[in-house]
Amino acid sequence: MNLAMTRSPRSHSSRILLIYTGGTIGMKESSSGLVPVSLEDLLEQLPDIDALPVELTLVSLDRPMDSSDLKPEHWVQIGELILKHSADMDAFLVLHGTDTMAYSAAALSFMMQHLGKPVIFTGSQLPLGHPRSDAASHWMSALEVAMALGPDGLPRVPEIALYFNHALFRGNRVRKLHAMGFDAFDSPNYPVLARAGTRIEYAEEAIGQGIPGQPFQQGRPAWFPALDQGVLSLKLFPGLRPDLWEVALHDPTVKAVLVEAYGAGNIPADGDLSELLRAFVQRGGHLIALSQCVGGQVDLTRYQSGRRLLDLGAISGMDMTFEAALTKTMHLLGTGGSDFREAFGQSIAGELGN
Ligand code: ASP
Repeated sequence: MNLAMTRSPRSHSSRILLIYTGGTIGMKESSSGLVPVSLEDLLEQLPDIDALPVELTLVSLDRPMDSSDLKPEHWVQIGELILKHSADMDAFLVLHGTDTMAYSAAALSFMMQHLGKPVIFTGSQLPLGHPRSDAASHWMSALEVAMALGPDGLPRVPEIALYFNHALFRGNRVRKLHAMGFDAFDSPNYPVLARAGTRIEYAEEAIGQGIPGQPFQQGRPAWFPALDQGVLSLKLFPGLRPDLWEVALHDPTVKAVLVEAYGAGNIPADGDLSELLRAFVQRGGHLIALSQCVGGQVDLTRYQSGRRLLDLGAISGMDMTFEAALTKTMHLLGTGGSDFREAFGQSIAGELGN
């Protein structure tokens, strides 16, 4: 980690910690394709904010990276930086690659609870230096969201959120849905928290909703760094050979399997697959039913083919995104203690229900 600089142009300014992790926003062309630049090089390119009432402190991961290289240990590093500055900063901005940004935002929402301050993730589809880049507007708007205060003088968005393409999403509700378009992210099962036009309009009714334990004492987060990576995802497809899963599902370090089922949570009447999954549950594994559909929710009672998962003892993933269900599973397995089934069905950070 690397503290680059602090700008403090005015009194009464917002103190914001910018955490640079890498990603396209700070990339440049190389002979092997786009690669992340250092924090110092990024600084050269960031639009000037000297006129804004903000005191910005910048840090970066030791090695800024393409987000496809990020691992749970990096989520811990990001969380530790926020934790370290939880009392002395008003808000946090995380510059991140788009590929796994939804995973990081969801993971952080479970690992860092009740912070009561904005943690805004953003990135871009084109690097800052590109003439048609979306990076500068994301950076400036995310900064404005992070600084925004409500009429009560408290942060307007005391959540872990993700800003992209004129919209602010809840961090554990968002998915990357487009590899090329500027509208790369959406949260099909939860309304946007804000939309940016000439003004940023906040959806007060969506902000903070469904996040238990409010009001939070600002800057006094609960921190849960333990994550258990003994998790697999089994994406169904016509022609799947259950025997290829034999070894994995008998591995004692595999504690949970996220079944990416069809539609409302339906699976085929394949005796071999059912036997394999039944044996997994009988030895204490958690089977979580998710849908391959992007919107809507799992309903295991709707079809006979859905009841198959129910009969196997599966836990419904309800309307959670894959990213939220996966990182919630890692978090619950890592922290242990509570009854997994019961804890999985309840909202920890507004990741399910409406
Ligand atoms: N591969 C890049 C990353 O996730 C993509 C991006 O940032 O848009 O780091």
